[in-house]
Amino acid sequence: MPNPATHILVPLILADLYRDYIAKKKFPLFYVLVAGIAGLLPDIDIAIWRIIGFFREVSVSSVHRQFTHTIFIPLLFLMAALLMRKNRKAKLLFGMASFGIFTHLVLDAIFSGSIMPFYPFSELSFGLNLALFTGMQPQMLFAVFDGILLGGWLIHEYVKHMIKDFI
Ligand SMILES: [Zn+2]
Repeated sequence: MPNPATHILVPLILADLYRDYIAKKKFPLFYVLVAGIAGLLPDIDIAIWRIIGFFREVSVSSVHRQFTHTIFIPLLFLMAALLMRKNRKAKLLFGMASFGIFTHLVLDAIFSGSIMPFYPFSELSFGLNLALFTGMQPQMLFAVFDGILLGGWLIHEYVKHMIKDFI
């Protein structure tokens, strides 16, 4: 899997860029944070696996990337967001949760192994496993990826601030 940091950084940075260039101040920073944290949520199944492990021996693969890595979870949050017509705060909260979780699935499917988006109805799996093609150790690759993301984002924030200071 991509590092937990990758799962936070990707939705966080995308939501922040959306805030900076499209929504502007109408989109409080809090929801950028929500997107970042939500990006981590699907891997809660690893914590669940650890808890089950106290009671009986189970392999991580029998728990990980199943129910929490389906398309149904972000769809449920998206539906909840769409239902919140009048309540803008709740709409943004559910919308950003949906977005963060969705980016998690996309990252897992693109970079490392595969996911079963329609589990338990179908065990059809999708995965490009791009990490394999780089010839790098996956953990090393994700560490470099995180460095580029964080570095790029910090530079962006710095430059944007500098520009703001001049106008
Ligand atoms: Zn995952």
